[in-house]
Amino acid sequence: MTDTFEIVFLGTGSPLPSPDRVGCGHILVAGNQHVLVDCGWGAARRILAAGILPSVIDTAIFTHMHTDHITDFPDFLFLRWTSGARTPLRVFGPEGTSDMVEGFLHALRRDIGYRLAHHGEKLHPDGIVVEVTEIPTTARPQPFFERAGLRLERFEVDHFPVVPALGYRATYDGRTAVLSGDTGFCESLLHAAQGADLLVCEALNTAMLRERIAALRAIGRDLQASLFEDIPSYHIDVADVARLARQAGVRQLVLDHLIPPIPSTGPEVERFIAGMAEHYPGPIRVARDTDRIPVPGATA
Ligand SMILES: [Zn+2]
Ligand SMILES: [Zn+2]
Repeated sequence: MTDTFEIVFLGTGSPLPSPDRVGCGHILVAGNQHVLVDCGWGAARRILAAGILPSVIDTAIFTHMHTDHITDFPDFLFLRWTSGARTPLRVFGPEGTSDMVEGFLHALRRDIGYRLAHHGEKLHPDGIVVEVTEIPTTARPQPFFERAGLRLERFEVDHFPVVPALGYRATYDGRTAVLSGDTGFCESLLHAAQGADLLVCEALNTAMLRERIAALRAIGRDLQASLFEDIPSYHIDVADVARLARQAGVRQLVLDHLIPPIPSTGPEVERFIAGMAEHYPGPIRVARDTDRIPVPGATA
């Protein structure tokens, strides 16, 4: 029997508002270890909806400092603490992570004081402590975390002008999952994804985005339309995701961080991935918030 190794999708959206898809967030579950990967708007509340107690998460890693990957972090800290955490949270991320954590903790300072005063010893003071390690970027995957069979590596991706921006590779029980982070097509992601059992990749459907831009222009929302026109320069189109997955020999592909946002089910989901199978022969899945997707094993 294989150990549990799966990815829980908290949020499969982007900065663009969506009733179905909140900001980016995942939990890597490896045996009894739980690692949070990014925590964008709305993602913290999805942890409970996904059936996970926030206090079991003792490690968090961040890909980059865009709002849709970080702004629910203070809410996560509060949920983790008040659901019983008694040890500090370990955080890893690129340069900028310390500033982000320090800033949020500063904003929470009064709340923390009020809750300790109100609840006394019921809340452990260490449960709201955060220990940050900023990890230098490397083009090739380099390990920064190893515990109980779970190994985490980071690699730099191309989300310019967002520098640094990281992707992650997680190995456990002989299986490998790669998370792209936010990126355009880049050699370092192609290299890191070689032979991965599961690639979780951000995805942009350029044709569908163009339709949204035209619709915004038609109602006079020119600034919004113009901002949307900048999106493709630092994200990866679905056809390129499929080509990259084939070139890397990925076994299974899961799309998230979907731009434009689409409903969880229905014809737009089919349209989003239409044509990808011409470039990539393996299974393609469009993740939904609170999905739990196992990293396939040798016999899966
Ligand atoms: Zn993003
Ligand atoms: Zn981003």
